Amino acid sequence: ATVRTPLIAGNWKMNFDHLQAIAFVQKLAWTLKDAAHDYDDVEVAIFPPFTDLRSVQTLVQADKLELKYGGQDVSTHVSGAYTGEISAQFLKKLDCDYAIVGHSERRYRHVESDETVAAKAKAARDAELVPLICVGETAKDLERHEPSAVPANQLRGALIDFKAGDDFVVAYEPVWAIGAGAAATPEQAQNVASVLRRVVAQATDEATAQKTRILYGGSVKADNIVGFMKSPDIDGVLVGGASLDVEGFASIVRYKK
Ligand code: PEP
Repeated sequence: ATVRTPLIAGNWKMNFDHLQAIAFVQKLAWTLKDAAHDYDDVEVAIFPPFTDLRSVQTLVQADKLELKYGGQDVSTHVSGAYTGEISAQFLKKLDCDYAIVGHSERRYRHVESDETVAAKAKAARDAELVPLICVGETAKDLERHEPSAVPANQLRGALIDFKAGDDFVVAYEPVWAIGAGAAATPEQAQNVASVLRRVVAQATDEATAQKTRILYGGSVKADNIVGFMKSPDIDGVLVGGASLDVEGFASIVRYKK
């Protein structure tokens, strides 16, 4: 069976300026330094605001940190007259590994369609970033559809230009669980994640589906992560609020301890 490296990802949203980001990364590196054996097969990634990325890059390079990072969003365009947008190529230049696309705060607050999310995922992939594609249903969706229906549709839409062998990560984030304090149960998350893996297989092939990491996101904390990580189709977590506290995030990273 394929072994998928667990990914623990912290989405800072619009928190921490670049000076705060420097302090955070230094403290995180210090906190995790003597605990390397607790998470030696876990990949850790942070998603700071764009204005922090250059500072994070400098620290990661200077201190040779085992820390990946990426943008919280990306433009569908490569360059040009798109005021305020950030090109995937610019993120790549800053040694980003990832770009989040389709976060629910972008889908709903900024009215991003499945087509836009697909174009962003493609723009990231074309710049050799790994798109971290977020999908998830709202509480309202649940009144009319079974839990996996909306996320599966969103994922089908996002993968329209993807093929077997492409590298991407899927994050299943039920919108009703984001910032809510109450997470989905591991069973709920596993049920949807297994459907999403089938969607990946249909959009690409079985081998790609087996190597693609599917994360759960929505009110993950140190005291509930283990249940998710025990679920066969959940390969990591995307953490919002709880990623803003160094000790809390470090405990999530060290979930095996
Ligand atoms: C998120 O917004 O990606 C998220 C999972 O947030 P929280 O952990 O705060 O629910």
